[in-house]
Amino acid sequence: MTAAPLQQAISRRGFLKAASGFLASASVIGFDLPQWPTTAVPQHVPVPASLMLHSPDAQSDFLPQLLDQLNEAGFTAVTYLSWQQLLRENRMPAKPIILSIDDISIAKHACAAFSTFVQMKEWIRAAGMTAVFGVITEPIINGTPQRTQDEERWDVVCSWIDEGFELATHTSYHSNFNAVDSGPRPDFTDVDYEAEIVRSARLIENKLLERGLDYPVKSLIMPYGSGYSYKLSPSQVHTGIMQACHQTSIEFVVGIAQGRAPLNTYALLDSQGVVYVGRLPPACVVDGDGRSLPYADLTEAWLSSWYEDNCALAAKQPMMRAV
Ligand SMILES: [Zn+2]
Repeated sequence: MTAAPLQQAISRRGFLKAASGFLASASVIGFDLPQWPTTAVPQHVPVPASLMLHSPDAQSDFLPQLLDQLNEAGFTAVTYLSWQQLLRENRMPAKPIILSIDDISIAKHACAAFSTFVQMKEWIRAAGMTAVFGVITEPIINGTPQRTQDEERWDVVCSWIDEGFELATHTSYHSNFNAVDSGPRPDFTDVDYEAEIVRSARLIENKLLERGLDYPVKSLIMPYGSGYSYKLSPSQVHTGIMQACHQTSIEFVVGIAQGRAPLNTYALLDSQGVVYVGRLPPACVVDGDGRSLPYADLTEAWLSSWYEDNCALAAKQPMMRAV
């Protein structure tokens, strides 16, 4: 079986052609399925189990233990970028998982210590895993956007990309995009969407390009899981966000609610499209002092349960004949 050719953009016809050698075994999309006919392709691809982390999760009695448990359970960490690329190349690992870490900023003045994110990255790297960092490009401190960037730290995060980590935009200002009904905020205009999404993606791309790295930002991690109308029917990404994404290279909008149903394979591989995916927060327990602490055992169990749900869903999905 030959792998699909490595290419950034793939047409529907091109995908079908590449897919004729696709899926000789269930491991192709990373879920335990019966053997598929080599002429069939899945119409849908399960969303890997995905965990949302923040700097308070950088605890030595939580994150390293969780990473060990995920390794023992057979998970392989991918990023949004590599998930798409591995699917395209027919090299999806058996149990993919996506770890994302929100709220890093490389502005001179940031809300959370840069060293905390460096520690998280080192633990993840030591575990042989990878992750996606959601960058707030102009964090607001005391009401003022912090625009001056820390060039030495940009050198550091640029090197993380070489190690397989992904940089996503987590918007410029980290605004909540939702009205109370989870629909779009009525006061948000095209100017706001452009400032939050387009400008943030371009700032990251420009900082990396200054360091010789031509790196299109492919993922937008939404602040507070907003931007997705999960309380409405149909649930969808707000139109203004989709329009802003189309001005960029963004293909993944990452929230929290929902976003776990299998994705249409063509939508996932179509470089013109934008797909929405959800995540889980860590499981927490409350200690004797009333503090909420992340808990590795239960977090691993939740992620394994997501994977098992995916296996059940994938087993039921209809096949489509390749041409
Ligand atoms: Zn955030």
